[in-house]
Amino acid sequence: MSSPSTPNAITMLIGDQRRQASNGATFERRNPLDASIATTAPAATVADATAAVDAAQSAFKQWSQLGPTARREYLLKASDALRAKEGAFAQAMAAETGASAMWAGFNVHLAADMLKEAAALTTQIGGEVIPSDVPGSLAMAVRQPAGVVLGMAPWNAPVILGVRAIATPLACGNTVVLKGSELCPATHGLIIDALFEAGLPAGVVNFVTNRPEEAGAVVEAMVAHPAVRRVNFTGSTRVGQIIASLCAKYIKPSVLELGGKAPFLVLADADVEASVNAAAFGAFANSGQICMSTERIIVESAIADEFVAKLTAKAASLPLADPRVSPAVLGSVVDMATVERCNHLIDDALAKGAKLLCGGKANSTLMPATLLDQVTADMKIYHEESFGPVKGIVRVADTEAAIACANDNPYGLSSAVFSRDTGKAWNVAQRIESGICHINGPTVHDEAQMPFGGVKQSGFGKFGGRAGIDAFTELRWITMQTTPRHLPF
Ligand code: NAD
Repeated sequence: MSSPSTPNAITMLIGDQRRQASNGATFERRNPLDASIATTAPAATVADATAAVDAAQSAFKQWSQLGPTARREYLLKASDALRAKEGAFAQAMAAETGASAMWAGFNVHLAADMLKEAAALTTQIGGEVIPSDVPGSLAMAVRQPAGVVLGMAPWNAPVILGVRAIATPLACGNTVVLKGSELCPATHGLIIDALFEAGLPAGVVNFVTNRPEEAGAVVEAMVAHPAVRRVNFTGSTRVGQIIASLCAKYIKPSVLELGGKAPFLVLADADVEASVNAAAFGAFANSGQICMSTERIIVESAIADEFVAKLTAKAASLPLADPRVSPAVLGSVVDMATVERCNHLIDDALAKGAKLLCGGKANSTLMPATLLDQVTADMKIYHEESFGPVKGIVRVADTEAAIACANDNPYGLSSAVFSRDTGKAWNVAQRIESGICHINGPTVHDEAQMPFGGVKQSGFGKFGGRAGIDAFTELRWITMQTTPRHLPF
């Protein structure tokens, strides 16, 4: 573990240059626990952001025409380089976001898999021949690289989401600009280091970092740039709406992966041990700061007392510690704003009749695993994303009520159903309004090859596997007239 006083100093990547902002401006990211400087990063100007897109545009012709095996080799090298940085990622994540080494390790492994999956996709970018009514016309639907892809990733699963923003786009022959999160610029910078070490041609990957207050201008400059043909954003629904509006203004297709409020349904015949373990993992991994985090535990009353007692015992036993000092399940949450939001949700729920089972309010970013029982629809925690280690339990009379509760929310990213009757669970899963549903598994689950994405206010579009190819290529209709064509005049 590094000392809390070892700050990272990072550079952007624009074309072949590792560089500072053109005006020399920087910003700091401070550690959430002791406010020591975690990172000093360049604060890009609008001109720097535009230069990054220009560099990507210049590299596009060569990269898009490179054969799939050559692209694959670069991505495989990047995967190895990324994995070799696991220790550096753990240091940077602990310093910048307070994340545990366990979470950092999971991030690096899945992100390395995502680069491998992207490498495998390079030969899967095909098309089809479509029967034409025109005699002698060979009509094809052909997938081609789209152009420059702008990717924006958040801090909470920084390696996975930073890699996800650019890996499949690169595999498809696009060049990319990654806009790092202001909360973890060094962590996102390490992804860029791995790609740099893999030797990708200059301009194929570019990286900009910016001051929080300049995000609007920097992002708009890049979305507006004519070379940018796809935008992807992972983050809150609030900023997702801003990005969607910008993309509408400049007519740019986007993939938006936004907030969540994942329901976890425990039906009366569920395996209690298995559902308790999955609920605890889904609710408290990375201190509940995952878009797929279990946010609403919905339990049929017939099984509720036993389930709640066992879940409370498990949650209360989860280790909480400064991740720079000792191993933990729950590290520091990302900032005091998270603590204040979670404390407010606890106060509101208790005032309206909820029962505190374990944990409780915190006065530092070391927040304990907290469970609230008897949550009802008049409480804020029933509706709002806590994005912290504070989770509510809703007791319901039957399965119909459980489904209704699961769907009584504007979000729709992940969900889970526990039942020994898998046929019944399958039918419940089909009625839940979410992009993802796991039967007898936790709400937190991601694999590189899976179609990942939400519905409703959780966004639209998919990352992962073939769905990612659809998102980051242009499907063109090209015909070839092989015999003389009859025309009306
Ligand atoms: P956030 O929405 O605060 O995102 C911050 C990003 O938005 C930064 O890159 C920032 O530069 C940019 N931004 C801020 N203001 C802007 C503006 N005016 N114009 C343009 N860009 C602007 O999210 P966060 O706190 O980093 O991440 C947490 C959220 O992300 C949670 O809601 C979580 O559920 C969601 N999330 C979703 C997924 C998913 O796959 N669906 C994954 C992880 C996190």
